[in-house]
Order: sequence, then structure tokens, then C-alpha cells
Amino acid sequence: MIVNLEIYSATMSVILFGLFIDISLKKINQMQKGKVSVNTENIFPIIKKFLYTDNEIFLRELISNATDATNKLKVLSQRGEVKGDLGELKITVKIDEKKNTLTISDSGIGMTADEIDKYINQIAFSGAEEFVEKFKDTKEDANIIGHFGLGFYSSFMVADKVEINSLSHAEGAEPAKWTCEGSTDFKITKGKRKKRGTDIILHINEESKDFLTQWKINELLNKYCKFLPIPIEFDDKTINEIAPLWKKNPSELKEENYTDFYGKLYPMSEPPLFWIHLNVDYPFNLTGVLYFPKIKKEIDPNRNKIQLYSNQVYVTDNVEDIVPEYLMLLHGVIDSPDIPLNVSRSSLQADGAVKKITSHISKKVADKLAELHKADFEDYKAKWHNMSIFVKYGMLSDDKFYDRSKKICLLQNTDKEYHSIDEYIAKIEPNQTDKDGNRVALYTNDIEKQHSFIESAKDKGYDVLLLDEVIDNHFIGNLEQKNEKFQLKRVDADTLSKIIDKDEKNESVLNEEDTTQLKEVFEGVVDKEKYTINPEVMSPTDSFITITRSEWERRMSEMGGMGGMQMFGQMPEKYTVAVNTNHPLASKVLKTKGDKQTELLSQAINLAKLSQNLLTGKELSDFVKAQYAAL
Ligand code: ADP
Repeated sequence: MIVNLEIYSATMSVILFGLFIDISLKKINQMQKGKVSVNTENIFPIIKKFLYTDNEIFLRELISNATDATNKLKVLSQRGEVKGDLGELKITVKIDEKKNTLTISDSGIGMTADEIDKYINQIAFSGAEEFVEKFKDTKEDANIIGHFGLGFYSSFMVADKVEINSLSHAEGAEPAKWTCEGSTDFKITKGKRKKRGTDIILHINEESKDFLTQWKINELLNKYCKFLPIPIEFDDKTINEIAPLWKKNPSELKEENYTDFYGKLYPMSEPPLFWIHLNVDYPFNLTGVLYFPKIKKEIDPNRNKIQLYSNQVYVTDNVEDIVPEYLMLLHGVIDSPDIPLNVSRSSLQADGAVKKITSHISKKVADKLAELHKADFEDYKAKWHNMSIFVKYGMLSDDKFYDRSKKICLLQNTDKEYHSIDEYIAKIEPNQTDKDGNRVALYTNDIEKQHSFIESAKDKGYDVLLLDEVIDNHFIGNLEQKNEKFQLKRVDADTLSKIIDKDEKNESVLNEEDTTQLKEVFEGVVDKEKYTINPEVMSPTDSFITITRSEWERRMSEMGGMGGMQMFGQMPEKYTVAVNTNHPLASKVLKTKGDKQTELLSQAINLAKLSQNLLTGKELSDFVKAQYAAL
């Protein structure tokens, strides 16, 4: 079949993916006007070759067409252009195993022979040139075929031969039959269909026999058509819900309607925390329901939980590029005919409508959180641990979301008290501001392991935050960046007088010479590569030995561990051993000599290591043996 298209172009004769385009030129008014004859002989191999992997989408395309035809009929009837009772408007899918056919029937507007020629033979191929142009250097999924008005032709991915039997709604229309065997030849003849509507009959090819099995068709109908607005019958059963929850008016819905629908989408999952019903018609069209699942400490790696629909037709559950990554932690449904579904993913990111939709969703989510926070703070606190990862992730990845959520992001301390970020900074300011005016927050990521440090901090009247989520490593840096003169340091990052350096000097009971000697004797019993001995003038009631790892070095190494900065990840662990020169044991060590002194030093170091979970392996076994021996 040869299709003539008029385009403005230069003379060329190109073969692109087997599609032969021959362009002959005429010059009109400086503008070059050409007549393109597209030899579509090879469009079928292209369709087959490119769309091989996603060939199942043919069913979605055909059922969408049937839905459109039915909806158009309803509109014409409302306008009075189609008279009388429309009868039962449904779409039927039938398998005939003997004839190897799959038939999709509708009772929509139907087509006359002329219309088949116009819409199927000609219009479809006007998209062919663009189709080939786009396919030239990108590998797209089969979704894009619909974009070029070639949706119907996707049936040739699975069929050798396709027939259309149609009777138009127009008064006095004759039934028409179109047959094409996947080559340039098609036939339009007088048809036999008696009732208004269209049958699309696919003679399924050898490789696609799966599509003649009931389970496969059931699976596909459930995937793509579960919420279509026109009843779809397969095997005498209606498979879809024509008015899904997200299309209903929120004021008519109860809590259980939302939880039931959630159960339908994600059978066997825990009930959601809460949800947002999206309903926008200007400046873009968007409906949907987004659910907040209970997010545990670990982020669910299976993030394809949001389903994207276009006018109730399932499109994909891969919404990357349509919603920002942190929103992908949510579940639910988004339905928008404004999202260009059939274009490449890279152009989606740049698409204006997509950007607006994204920022709308993110604003709605922030608003919902603010609403919950305001309405019932106790309930909000109870839910916080299931959503904190989400909120922090959002704040990290989207500045606007940070600003919107700052007030509702909670910081929890080791006494299980919750504060907003600003409240917390104000709370610690009087007692935890250092000599340079930095408000220093202390935190722990493990109450058990850092117990001795937490106790010391509390003894000094300091507050300690609990930041034990995977994301906190990054979140801490973000908080420091966003809040001026605010620092977060882990309780074991240094001795307290150094972490919050208030420039308070204690008098040392040891003179300089004694202090140097104390340092040297301790250096004799530790691995100097790993431990740096640092005599410090502290209060006599502070612990004798405190082993710490600097906040900076630990953060770098943790980032390395998370795959961020390899170079730092390989740094050897280095610790500072603070020896309290004012502790009574300091003088005792100096007075003791010989083996006794070595024993005392080792014992002091080991006890410090033990209290900080640093005594492991052979060191630990030797230590325990020695303790038994001394009993
Ligand atoms: P698109 O649906 O993107 O326009 P298709 O190739 O799928 O492209 O269909 C081309 C045209 O054929 C449709 O726009 C419609 O006018 C007509 N058509 C296809 N299927 C049907 C049907 N079942 N009933 C009536 N018209 C149909």
C-alpha cells in the first residue's frame, strides 16, 4: 500500500530500518514542498522487530480503541446525534482455539468502509515517518507505538492476519470488512456484521500462541483493563471495575473504601498509614489516590508501587521520571491523560506537564503531612517512625519539600521527646552553644553501644538525639547545611569538653613533666598507628580513659561504606584516647613502676575499650582469660 504525504523537505531517498521513503521535490514559493510516498511494505517487520519484547501491549491498544469507540457513541447519544436505546455497551474478548483467533468486540460507533480506509489505511501511516525517525537511535518500549497513531497496527506483533468487521452507527450504513495479512495488501469488502460496532479478529501467529490461552488473556486484562470505564467481558465474566475509587468524589467515600481499595491493589500488605486523594482539572488533569505505606527502617527495594493510568487504562508501574524518587516510596494510583505516555523517558523529564504534576503531588503530600500534624499531634507522633524515612528523603532531595516539611519533621531524643527542628535548636541553645556560637546537638545512633557516652552527656545536662535510621547519615549533613551555626556530633566523637568547647579551663593536678610522662607510658601499651594518646584536663569525676573517633573521619568512612566515597572508606580507623589527668588513677599510674604499671595501663585501656565495644577478637579473649586467672 502506498500512502502519499505532503511534507516540506529536501530530496532524499532513505532507507531507515527497512522503511523506504522516496521523496520527490517540487519548488513552490521558495519553500520546498515535497510529496512523500512511503512504501510501507516493511512497516510490519519494524513493528515486529522493535516491539517484540512488549508485544502484550497490543491488547491494551485494541481495548483502548474499543473503549474510545464506545465513549464516542455515548457522547453522540447525549448530543442527540444517535437516536434510541444504545443497548448494552460492553467490550467482549473471545478466544477461538480451533481457529487460532482472538477477537475483541465492541458496540461502539463502528466504521464504514470509507472510515476504515481513512482511519486505518491512511491516518495510521501518517505517523509512520515520524515513528521511524524517532526509532532511529533510541531503544524504546512498545508503548510508543500508540503515540504515532499506530496502536491498531501493534496487533501485527502477535498476528499474521487481522480482520476488522464493522457496522457504523450512521443511519443506513453498510457493514464493512477489512483484511490484511501483514503485507502491503489489504482488502475492503462488504461485511456481514448485523449489529452496530466492531470486531477485531486476530489470527494469532505461531510464536504468540500464549495469547490463545485463558490464563494469559486473564492476566493481561487484569493488568491493563481492571479499571476501564466500559465493562469488559471475558469468559462470560466481567473483569473490570468501571468506577474505580480514584474517580469517585472524596466526599462520598469512607475510610474503609480506601483501605479496601488498597487491599485490592496490594493484596496481603499491611494497611496503609494514610492517603491523599488527588483531584485536579486545571491546569492539568490528574486524579488518583496515593497511599503512605508503613515504611520500616529499610527502604523497600521494590519501589514500583505506584501505578500510572491514562483515562483508567493501565500504562505502567514504572513511574520513575514522572514522580521524584522519594515519592516513589508511596503506593497507589495516578491517572492523567496529560502525561505523554508514549514518548521516551528522557523527554518526560523535560516535559512541562510532568514537571507541574510532580510539583503538585509533592505539595499535596506536604500539605497532608501538615494537616495530620496539626489535627492530632499524638497520632502524628505515633505514625512518625513509619514515615520519617519518607519525610527525610523528601527533604534531602527537594528543597521545596524541605521548606514545606521543616515544621513537621520531628527529632526524637533518647528520652523519647519529640521536637521540630527549630524547637530543638532553641531548646539546646542555652546549654549547648560552644565558644564560637555554634549550637551543637549531640546524637547517638545506638543507645546500647554508646551508653557510657550518653550517660556522661546527660550528667552534664546535655540532650542527646536518637538518629538511628539509614538515611540519617545524609540527613545530618543536610540539617547542618540548612541551619546556620548548627552542628550535630555523635556522642562518642570526642570528649564532651571538646565536642561542645566552651573554653572552660580546668586546673591540672599534674605538672607538664608528669603529663608528658603519662602520655609516654600509655603510648607504650597501645598500637600507635591506631590510637593517639591525648592527656586532657577534665573534672576528676569524668572517666579516666575515653576513646573517641572524630565526627568527620567517621562520617567519611561511613559514606565510603555506603558506596559514596571509596577513597575514605579504605582509611584505617583511627581513635583518640583521652586520658583524664585529673582522675585519681592518673597519679596512681605514675607512682606505680615496672610490670605493675604496664598491667595497670593495659587494664585501664581494656576497660575503656570494653565499655565502648572496641574490645574484640583475641584482645577480648586474652582479657577475659586474665580476669579469670586473677579470681
Ligand atoms: P489511535 O487510536 O491512536 O488513533 P489506532 O491505529 O489505534 O490509532 O486507530 C486508528 C483509528 O481507527 C482510531 O483513531 C479510530 O478512529 C479508528 N478505530 C480503531 N479501532 C476502532 C474501533 N474499535 N471502533 C471504531 N473506530 C476504531
